[in-house]
Amino acid sequence: MEIQFTPTATPKEKPKDESKLGFGKIFTDYMFVMDYSADKGWHDARIIPYGPLALNPASSVLHYGTEIFEGLKAYRTSDGEIRLFRPWENIRRMNNSAERLCLPEVDEEFVLSAFDRLVTLEKDWVPHEEGTSLYLRPFMYGNDPHLGVHAVHDATFVIICSPVGAYYAEGINPVKIIIEDKDVRAVRGGTGYAKCGGNYAASLRAGKKAEEKGYTQVLWLDGVERKYIEEVGSMNVMFKIDGTIVTPALLGSVLPGITRKSCIELLKSWGYKVEERQLSVDELVAAIKDGKLEEAWGTGTAAVVSPIGTLCYENVEYTVNGSKIGEITQRLYDELTGIQWGRQPDPFSWCHTVCRA
Ligand SMILES: *Cc1c(COP(=O)(O)O)cnc(C)c1O
Repeated sequence: MEIQFTPTATPKEKPKDESKLGFGKIFTDYMFVMDYSADKGWHDARIIPYGPLALNPASSVLHYGTEIFEGLKAYRTSDGEIRLFRPWENIRRMNNSAERLCLPEVDEEFVLSAFDRLVTLEKDWVPHEEGTSLYLRPFMYGNDPHLGVHAVHDATFVIICSPVGAYYAEGINPVKIIIEDKDVRAVRGGTGYAKCGGNYAASLRAGKKAEEKGYTQVLWLDGVERKYIEEVGSMNVMFKIDGTIVTPALLGSVLPGITRKSCIELLKSWGYKVEERQLSVDELVAAIKDGKLEEAWGTGTAAVVSPIGTLCYENVEYTVNGSKIGEITQRLYDELTGIQWGRQPDPFSWCHTVCRA
């Protein structure tokens, strides 16, 4: 499929102060859009000036939440390349999410070529300062203009880009997390493994309550027994217990993070024992009380790793590793960011070069 291009008449000014970018507040000049209909398949691929999308008020996304998304970053390396980190994993995951929500799947090669075209066009928007990047947000939504409830026949796929700041502009600070024992995010058989807007809609109330109590995010328990650890906010979670790394297994309700997968592959290559299994909150609390919980951290594209310094469960606060970043958490952070920004070799061939900067 050809990608049509419409140049903008009013290019925006690039942000001057890259230390104030924040996350997802500024968008670039262009976006990629393509449409799907049952009879035509994907069609009308185009790169057009960033701006509002037309939406029929009956569109299924507005009524039934037929929406999925992805998140990945383009990095400017020290030797003058623009790179993406494991983009084919994002595209594959988007297709898994699409299958779950009865949205149409995309051609993986074609979407990668769309990333390349868009990022090449917007390469001057990839910020320069240490730790900054261009965040890509691909998303897809159902566009059927009928209120009947059925699988999607019409859809739209969009990619927008946002220059984002260094996540840890003030150094890595361990976060305070509260274990949520009432609301749940997802259940097995539901949409937990899909990256869909609906999962976030369901999570906001607990997130708000946690913030009001002074916690950064919630740690979710399983939706059936409120017994097993699932993930933390928009990150997967890992624990070092008595020398072994333990992370919840992917049993359908946990989002299969690409950072999670990369951490597991790195940890195994360093000789650590990694267990993907069910971990009950009782086992975790017992490990804390026995002094065996050595480190805890979240993993995700935005922060890479986020050390957990405090865990609250049933109104008791527990401190992890003296509320300092642990040795493995730091090593994972250094290694992954080193690979992403090209400061270190890429032994697993995780990076995809888009263009010369
Ligand atoms: C996106 C996401 C993650 C992290 O996935 P990455 O691919 O590592 O960025 C974890 N949990 C949830 C709920 C997510 O939406």
